[in-house]
Amino acid sequence: MPNSVVVTTVAVKSVKQNYTPSEQMLDLLNDFRLMVNDCIRIGLKENVTSLKSLSLKAYHQLSNYQVPSYYRLCAISAAVGVLKNYRKASRKKSDVKTPYARRLMLTTCYGFKIKDGKQLRLSVRPHRYEYIQLNQHTKDVLSAEPGLTVRSVCLTTSTLSISYSKQIDAIEKPAGLLGIDRNLDNITVATSSGEDIRFDLSKATEIKAKYRDVKSHFTRSDARIRHKIFGKYGEKQRNKVNQIIHNVTKQVVKKAKKEKLGIAMEKIKGIRKLYRKGNGQGNRYRGRINGWSYCEIQRQVEYKARWEGIPVVYVDAWGTSSRCSICGCKTYSNEHRQLYCPKCNISVDRDVNAARNILARGGLRFGPDWRPIEAMVSVKR
Ligand SMILES: [Zn+2]
Repeated sequence: MPNSVVVTTVAVKSVKQNYTPSEQMLDLLNDFRLMVNDCIRIGLKENVTSLKSLSLKAYHQLSNYQVPSYYRLCAISAAVGVLKNYRKASRKKSDVKTPYARRLMLTTCYGFKIKDGKQLRLSVRPHRYEYIQLNQHTKDVLSAEPGLTVRSVCLTTSTLSISYSKQIDAIEKPAGLLGIDRNLDNITVATSSGEDIRFDLSKATEIKAKYRDVKSHFTRSDARIRHKIFGKYGEKQRNKVNQIIHNVTKQVVKKAKKEKLGIAMEKIKGIRKLYRKGNGQGNRYRGRINGWSYCEIQRQVEYKARWEGIPVVYVDAWGTSSRCSICGCKTYSNEHRQLYCPKCNISVDRDVNAARNILARGGLRFGPDWRPIEAMVSVKR
């Protein structure tokens, strides 16, 4: 059994709650937005996008704002993000709109303090403080583990998110791997020790189908009303579906943590291109496939895994669903989602086969001397 190599790094997570801003806070948010817009203007005029050069150009010009000076730095750094995105977008397209921050918001890593784990103290003007009560969920999250450090806060007119971090001992070479294959109705997990687990997600697909149906019966032609109502349904649907995905990804990461396994998933870049108009699929099928939360699953698995120090690798998805995971031969589809390999003379479940392929490809990432606990090839069903 290989020894797992451990490296110390920092993992970041965040927690979000609603709050009602006071008059002074709204003033501060507005000043912050104006400062960001000033910085964007200066950055565009002087053609700078790096944090250092924008600080040199913009810092003193922001001195007429009556805010603690560290908010100037935060505004500059927020503007740098906007300018970088703008530059990137305008390289691709010629008619990109000049950026401008419309929303009231504040992102800061200075000027706040969590008092007794109960409330957030924020300085709104030099030597003037405002308080936001933390709700039970936020308090629980921040006190759940020892050694958490609060890094930054982000305020909008209705939400407060607090980003926090901890030092983790990241495993560089895990003792085994866990491959995840995502399908429409389930995700299938295969581990180095030869275990297969299927997590049912048909509930999420049902919810999506229901909302799609509701939306398709909406016939009023007023675009504004439609936009509003669809937005509302979209949010409800997202909340329900994300809850289901959250439960599943939690279980997957828990398993990986318990058995000290790394996680391998497919690279999903370009997956949407496979299912769009003109590719010979039906409307309904495309709708189902494109409505599926590929990204959300991966995003959740990845950040939860990182928090536990579990390494995540992405592998090429090519052929994972059609090649035999034991010999690599082309397989034939049987009934009931089974695949038949003529060389090995066996039938395997296609999802399990795909998960094992992903697992095997992931193993190659840890170098030639890396071996999982047991050879996966000996597992036959
Ligand atoms: Zn085979």
